[in-house]
Amino acid sequence: MNLSCQSCGAQLVVADTLRTATCPYCAAPSVVERPPSPDRPAPTFALGFVQTPQRARELARENLLRRSFWAPSSVRNASVEELKGIYVPAWLYSALAESDFSASIGENYTETETYTTTENGKTVTKTRQVTRTEWRSLHGRHAEYVPDVLVTASSGLPNEELEHIEPFDLRALRRYDDAIISGWISEEPSLPQAQCLEQARAEVMAQLRQRLASFMPGDSHRELQYSTQFHQEALVVCLLPVWVLALRHDPQSPPLRFLVNGQTGKVYGRVPVSWIKVLIAVLLALLVLGGLYLLLSSR
Ligand SMILES: [Zn+2]
Repeated sequence: MNLSCQSCGAQLVVADTLRTATCPYCAAPSVVERPPSPDRPAPTFALGFVQTPQRARELARENLLRRSFWAPSSVRNASVEELKGIYVPAWLYSALAESDFSASIGENYTETETYTTTENGKTVTKTRQVTRTEWRSLHGRHAEYVPDVLVTASSGLPNEELEHIEPFDLRALRRYDDAIISGWISEEPSLPQAQCLEQARAEVMAQLRQRLASFMPGDSHRELQYSTQFHQEALVVCLLPVWVLALRHDPQSPPLRFLVNGQTGKVYGRVPVSWIKVLIAVLLALLVLGGLYLLLSSR
């Protein structure tokens, strides 16, 4: 059966037995049935779940919910039974990136400098070693094949959150087959492909900055600039195994989302701070300090 979340836009595919009234990504009670969407790109690859439901719940409970003493009790004691295994769609991108770059390269050298100073009221001349930098400009071209950049294709799971549970071990990728997702919730790509392509290129550009910086010659460099052309771009959909726990602990704020990488067990989630707990702790501390003060000053 095909479901659509009116709140976050996730396009879910679930078995009839897994029919759900709330969105597994955002916990919104606005999930409606939708017709199948034949025009969405079909997955090429999938990564299977390795973490069992029991293990995923343990990881979520111990490493996310209970981790923060300052979290509201409603979050610390939230039920991990609601953790759902989802095959999240992502784009797997690879390309040949050709960059023209320029930079100023600094070469250090030492020089002996003569200077005058005052010692015991007399002016004396002395020498010292100083390090100077000579700058020269460098232009060049760098070509590199960049494989395996993952960006989310799900409107329910932002890329920034997916990055927190990466990396996935892509050596375990398998050709997609309907049997892989049977019994699981899966999602069809719900973000525009053009937007995902831009995201993937931006990730490559950020990687290239580090790579170019690391192989600049000389002792230092500055004004590194580069423009990159992408060739032989490949973009395929793959399904990633992710355990998701979505909580609406406060109607006023966006839902909380806790993630467990279904392959590696890496966890991610932002735990909110309960200001009431903090306030009570501060008041208690002040009381103790005040009591000590009274005790000491009455002697
Ligand atoms: Zn949703």
